[in-house]
Amino acid sequence: MPSEATEAAEPAAPNHVLEFPGGYTRSVGPVIGRFLSELRDGRLVGVRTREGRVLVPPTEYDPDTGEDVTAEFVEVGPAGTVTTWSWVARPGRTHPLDRPFAWALIRPDGADTALLHALDLGVFEVGAEAPRFLKTGMRVRPKWRAERTGAIGDIECFRPEVTMIGAPSRLEYRLKGGRAMDRFLEGVSEGRLIGHRCDVCGQVIVPMKGLCPRDGVPTTEEVELPDTGTVTTYAVNNLPDPRAPEVPFVSAYILLDGAGLTMLALVAGLPADQVRMGMRVRAAWRPREEWGRTMANIKWFEPLDEPDVPFDAIKDYL
Ligand SMILES: [Zn+2]
Repeated sequence: MPSEATEAAEPAAPNHVLEFPGGYTRSVGPVIGRFLSELRDGRLVGVRTREGRVLVPPTEYDPDTGEDVTAEFVEVGPAGTVTTWSWVARPGRTHPLDRPFAWALIRPDGADTALLHALDLGVFEVGAEAPRFLKTGMRVRPKWRAERTGAIGDIECFRPEVTMIGAPSRLEYRLKGGRAMDRFLEGVSEGRLIGHRCDVCGQVIVPMKGLCPRDGVPTTEEVELPDTGTVTTYAVNNLPDPRAPEVPFVSAYILLDGAGLTMLALVAGLPADQVRMGMRVRAAWRPREEWGRTMANIKWFEPLDEPDVPFDAIKDYL
């Protein structure tokens, strides 16, 4: 049988090394040459076939028909779409990146074929699994090297398109949040409840955070709100709390009149089992001489003698 013959012959197979001392140089021809020259200049080009398709990387012949391609070069991408990929959890010495990455087929925008390149997803732990957001159809862009030589390595790798920003907006939020909270407490020290109106959605945020949580935009326009509002949701607590008058006591989310967001506060002045969603309340302030720069200036909220607000009017603020 052939397999036995192969097995018997195997030990005789030597290892071959093919080496060109000093390097190996050959002409790349006009088509590949144009592709590499454009790469050096920071552009991706393909070549058009007689049937109108755009091949990237370009070839001298249409692989479908064997015909010569046309002389028309077309700039494509540089952004593109991942058409398939293979994860490399443990990169080897000869790999283009020293951390986990994907080999991906990437079809640049405007091209009809895909090119193979490394896709860097910012995973640094060797052996790590492919991140969940790595998917066929993912949008990517090349990371060009500053010094280019006219080789496929002029693109260091592809990277995902930026679709989200994380840390910068978070930092902004915390810095401004501190200032906004200071300003809010300054108001409370004068017996006033101050919020911020968002330029985009128009809602009033109180206590303000310096940022609209709905739109992510900074807020600065101050609005003074009344100290009356509506209980949206609440919890009955059976563990003692130094701020509460008795046990059980009620903590509630209260939508101040005119506000677009609720705030958390105690509710007292009635038995805990009589607190209701939609109940109208007013802030019970401590005596003025006890006021400081603290929310403790408001002891809690007490019931107002007004009809409850229908559930429909508060259901978006729960
Ligand atoms: Zn807003």
